[in-house]
Amino acid sequence: MIQIGDNPPITGDIEIDIQPGNWRGHGHHLNEAFDSVILHVVWTEESQSQHDIPMLALESCLDTPLESLYRAVDASGGKKGLLYLLGRCNEPLRNLSEDELKELLHQAAQVRLEAKASRFEARARATGWEQSLWEGVFEALGYQHNTWPMRRIGEMLPHLFGDDEGLDSPLVYQATLLGISGLLPSQLESGKSPRNSYLRAIWDLWWRRRSRLAHLTLPVSLWHLSGVRPANHPHSRLALAAHWLATGNLVEKLESWFVFPLPNTTLHASLHEILSSNRDEFWQRHHTLRSRQLPKIKPLIGADRTTDLATNVILPWFWARASVGHSTALQRLAETRYFAWPKAQDNATLRLARERLFGRDRIRCISGAADQQAILQIVKDFCSLSNALCEGCSFPILAHQYQTEPK
Ligand code: SF4
Repeated sequence: MIQIGDNPPITGDIEIDIQPGNWRGHGHHLNEAFDSVILHVVWTEESQSQHDIPMLALESCLDTPLESLYRAVDASGGKKGLLYLLGRCNEPLRNLSEDELKELLHQAAQVRLEAKASRFEARARATGWEQSLWEGVFEALGYQHNTWPMRRIGEMLPHLFGDDEGLDSPLVYQATLLGISGLLPSQLESGKSPRNSYLRAIWDLWWRRRSRLAHLTLPVSLWHLSGVRPANHPHSRLALAAHWLATGNLVEKLESWFVFPLPNTTLHASLHEILSSNRDEFWQRHHTLRSRQLPKIKPLIGADRTTDLATNVILPWFWARASVGHSTALQRLAETRYFAWPKAQDNATLRLARERLFGRDRIRCISGAADQQAILQIVKDFCSLSNALCEGCSFPILAHQYQTEPK
């Protein structure tokens, strides 16, 4: 039953099509089963009407962006909306051969590697290479929501640790980083849990440094904590960074790893071993300073985070250093590792972009972490500058230009 304007309500059938032209295209005008249609719902309107039936074009009526609606459908397990989600670049991408598509993705990944390297190069000019690496590492540990405050802590490192005693102890670094973050709970709880013992030890170390570093301490409001998965909480990320700082030779270890000849199959495992070698009685059993003790020991860093650090920080940093040092051989080495790196698990951005660009057809062409980086670069350079309907996006034309063989 529908009512249009002030007219009396009427009852009948409602036909739903994507385009108004589907009415004739599907032969509805010759089919008497459609005689009782009182409303034709379509996606886009056309200037020339196909019939006298009232038409409702949904395109201009949405109160929620199409992408959000897709996510809602996706979250509820329905996949039928996928067809309508395909980006305008899907067709030119589908027309590319396997080799043409690989070349396109390779170039997008290379653009991303060099863009990240230029950031390191610019920052290293101001602060030195080692400091620029630490800033990148801290930023990457901020994940999506807390990159800025984490990077800020990375930037402040040279001012945090002066002649402090005990700088070989991770606990001193943890107390300073957690204190400076503004995320240290101000109230100690009563009782004798491992959490209380740890907090007491941290506060004991922090209060001695607190007044000296008060002007650098971040306000809690800078952090986005709601919706952050416990495993990604800044508490545990800062605790991990504290271990790397306390080691005192992480950069040297990374340098040795970079020049050591390694088969591609051991790239990830060998770096992961360097980044995950620390032991921490408290943080291997807690996600945050408030969380309950986990029944099982967990690693301080997950496998995907190692990939994230390799592709976004460590390899671009080595590439930048090689570029400034005019070492083509080391640049090629960084590229070889970057393009051989195994892929990480999809995140929501990657999944959505992959489906918009490739649908289900070409998903197997995403074989490594560099392909995932390529997709993120396309999202950054094109999708994020357009809308859910791809209006004004020039990527379809670009994709078309990669086609060397006529189809
Ligand atoms: S915005 Fe551009 S790159 Fe993104 S899906 Fe649409 S056409 Fe493809």
